[in-house]
Order: sequence, then structure tokens, then C-alpha cells
Amino acid sequence: MNQIVKPATTLVIFGATGDLAKRKLYPSIFNLYKAGRISKSFSVVGVARRPWTNEELRKTVSESVDSEDKELVREFCEHFYYLPVDVTNIESFNELKSLVENIEKKHNIPENRMFYMAMAPQFFGTIATNLKASGITDISGWKRLIIEKPFGHDLASAKQLNHELREAFSEDEIYRIDHYLGKEMVQNIEMIRFGNAIFEPLWNNRYISNVQVTSSETLGVEDRGGYYESSGALRDMFQNHMLQMVALLAMDPPNRLTPDDVRNEKIKVLRALRPISKDEVKHYVVRGQYEPGTLNNQEVSGYRSEKNVDAESSTETYVGAKLLIDSHRWAGVPFYIRTGKRMSVKTTEIIIEFKDLPMNIYRKDEEKLHPNLLIIHIQPDEGITLFLNGKKIGISEGSVPVQLNYCHNCLTTVNSPEAYERLLNDCMLGDMTNFTHWDEVESSWRFVDPISDYWAKHSEDLTMYEAGTMGPKESHELLERDGFRWWEYTNQINFYGSGI
Ligand code: NAD
Repeated sequence: MNQIVKPATTLVIFGATGDLAKRKLYPSIFNLYKAGRISKSFSVVGVARRPWTNEELRKTVSESVDSEDKELVREFCEHFYYLPVDVTNIESFNELKSLVENIEKKHNIPENRMFYMAMAPQFFGTIATNLKASGITDISGWKRLIIEKPFGHDLASAKQLNHELREAFSEDEIYRIDHYLGKEMVQNIEMIRFGNAIFEPLWNNRYISNVQVTSSETLGVEDRGGYYESSGALRDMFQNHMLQMVALLAMDPPNRLTPDDVRNEKIKVLRALRPISKDEVKHYVVRGQYEPGTLNNQEVSGYRSEKNVDAESSTETYVGAKLLIDSHRWAGVPFYIRTGKRMSVKTTEIIIEFKDLPMNIYRKDEEKLHPNLLIIHIQPDEGITLFLNGKKIGISEGSVPVQLNYCHNCLTTVNSPEAYERLLNDCMLGDMTNFTHWDEVESSWRFVDPISDYWAKHSEDLTMYEAGTMGPKESHELLERDGFRWWEYTNQINFYGSGI
């Protein structure tokens, strides 16, 4: 049996009083601790502006973890320390360095230091510069930087940020989090593709007609209107999570499952995305924004009435796009991507639509055979559905689509780990496979920038959709023009599309 490696490390969290730390990071670290995946020689140093004490941080941590085992929680919280810091002040970093050194001595922790930037992105560069200037990164052990999205606002700002980070950390010390890459079923894409003889030989333009990737939310922007106004769905979801899923779906099999091999294959896909020039944006990309509507029998307001949103905002809350990948494997196969807020269902799923058979011997029943679909459910359901055609039961003629379902999260007795839990563990182990390499970030922005530049000058392209629907009609037309349609998730009994 594999022995669990238990890294001994100090994790410094910038933004320790913030939402991400409380909702995601503390529960994830606790789960790793409970599962025995962290050495007892570890500490977490929380850093933020508030004048908290160690006790106040420990209280917050204990409230954020969900466990009946109070003794375990108490023991866990003792590993936490707090330092009030203004990250723009270099003096604070000298204090941080002394604190970390004292804690390492006290708990016999080697000089392995992780720095997690759970703060607003405008501070990322400053923190890296101050870390370096204080000497806290000059150590005998390893150092790693974990950085949250957004990684820049466009290619120029991403390059600038990368340049600042690289002053203090090398590329193989920078772990850029895309939490979609930590999701159970996103990680399963590789296994489904490369672990099944029935799929990989068909995974190309000879047998696949199109690929659809949907990530829809029923929520609106909630209280993140200020952030969203400068981001929009293109930067918030499309440039990172959606393109990462496309890369995993379209990449060639890596020779080995090493971080370098996997990332190299993904980078090739991102570089092979056919650029969308400014003149082509409106033919390939639909930009939508939600208007008032009804969701779960409740009236909800439109985006422009949300808190901290301009009453005439042209920020997109929906992006639908057709992507083409110029490679031998994918030439001619459209990848349709859509992501949006206030849509009728909350789901992230991938649908692979296979080509029709060259000849339909059942043509006499006048029904077209239903296409074979492979559906990978990412969230909230986790699993796979495969659509085949079967004979109608009884003596009547004709075919009926049958579904083979595998529900990953209903059958397992162990809950899928949270994405953050898995990614933090990977980072502690030095496994970069599921983090975004700079070359991926660069290629993604290079692809996205012409779209956002065009939109910045052409607000007339904005299309509206009613909250509680699956996006603007233009997004449906995008597929109809090619003779396809979005396959809609309609309920949990796995019934797709209409007319089946
Ligand atoms: P937040 O506003 O809740 O927390 C910000 C933290 O930064 C607080 O601890 C605050 O004290 C600290 N801070 C602000 N200015 C400071 C300064 N000058 N010196 C020291 N500390 C300072 O933010 P959040 O929601 O936790 O998000 C943090 C980062 O994570 C952002 O980059 C965000 O885009 C990203 N992110 C958040 C989520 C989420 O679910 N919250 C999800 C994905 C990505």
C-alpha cells in the first residue's frame, strides 16, 4: 500500500480574515489534517489587516470547520497563528519573517514555506516584492506561492504581474489556482479519455460532431457587483475555467502523467485555438446580460439593478462561444462554450456529441436516430451519462434513446474532496499538474483579449436574456447555424433535450 506523504510546512495565508479563507481554506486544511495528510509539524500563519490575536483567528477557524470532534478541532487550531499586517508596509514583512522563524523552531518545522495570496489581486505584486525584500524567501527548504484568480485583467497586466512574481519565485514555485482543475470530475476527464479503449479511438473529428461545455449558475452577482463590473463572465469564467476544460477535453494523450507532459499537451491546445479577430467576434461569441425574470417561482431583478452595478452597464453576465481548434485531431469540430449567471439551472457539464452513422437502416421509421452523447457531469451531479439507441419495447418498430448512467457522487461512500483540499495537498507535495502554467495563462489571454477589446468599443453587441432562462436566443442561433443545438439538462432523471 502507498504510504501517505505528510509534508511538514508553514503556510502563510494573506487575507486570513477573508471569505475565501473562511469558506474554503480552513475547512480544506482541516480535512487534510483529519485524514492524516499533513505532518503534525505544520503551522498556518494568518495575515490580514484586522488587529486580531491568535485566539481570534483560532476561534474563526474552529467555527469554519464542520466537525463533532471538538478535541481534534482544538488540537488543529493550535497550529494557527495570526499577525496583523498591512501588506503594503515592508516593516510588517520583517515581523512576519521573525514570527515564522520562531514558529519553525518551536515546532521543529523545516524551512518549507508556502505563501497563499487569498487577497484582492492588486496586492499580489506588492506581496511578492515585499516577501523578497524581507528575506523570508531566502531559505534552505522549498518555497511555493499559491495565487488566486484573476491572474491579470488582460495579457499586458498578466505579463506585468508575472514579472513581479518572478522577482521572488521561479515558474516552478508558482501555483496558479484554477479550482475547476481540483474538481473530481474535471480530473476524471483524463481517466475517461485515456483509460477507456472505447473512447480514445473515437476522440477526434472522424467521430465527434461537436463538443458542448456549459457552466450555468442560478445565482446573480449577489454582493460582488463591484468586482463583476470590471470582470464580466469573459474574464471571470471563460478565460480560465472554461478554456481549461476545453484544453483537457482536446489535448492529445500525454506520454506520461507528469506535470510537464500534461501541461505541455494542454498548452498545445490553447495555442491551436483559432484566433477570433475583432471583425469576427459577433459571429463567434455571444455576449449576454440578464434582465428581470422568474427563478424557482420568485421574481428576480435584472443585472443593472444589482448592488454596485451601473444602471446602464454593458458588462456581460453570459458568454456563449464557438471555438475551433486548428489541429489534425479537431479540424472542423466546433467546441461550443457557454457560461452565465441567473440561468434556469445550476450545472457544469460537458457533452460530447458523436457523428451520425453513415447510413441509417432504421430510416423507415422516419425518426432520426438520436445521436450518441457522452455527458460528463461536473457539478452538482458528478458522473457520466452515455446515450445509446435501443429498440422500442414490444412489437412496435423504431428506436428509443437509452441512457447508461453512472453517478459518481451517489454511489461512493466517501465524499469527493473539495477542490481546494486536493489542490492544497498537491501544492504541499510539489505536484503542479493541476495548476495553470504561465504559458497557459498567456495563451488564454491572447485568445480572449481581441474579444474584450472589441466589446469595450461595441456595447451594441450586448444581447439580453430573461433571468431563469438558458441565455439569449442568439446563443441558440450560434449552434442552429451549424445544424446543432444545445442539449439541455432538464431534470435529475437525466432527460435531455426535447422530442426524445
Ligand atoms: P475578502 O475581501 O473577503 O478578503 C480580503 C482579505 O484581504 C481580508 O482578510 C482583508 O483583511 C485582507 N486585506 C485587504 N487589504 C489588506 C492589506 N492592505 N493588508 C493586509 N490584508 C489586507 O476577499 P475573498 O473573497 O476572500 O477573495 C480573496 C481572493 O480570492 C481574491 O483574489 C478573489 O478573487 C479570490 N477568490 C475568492 C473566492 C471566494 O469564494 N471568496 C473564489 C475564487 C477566488
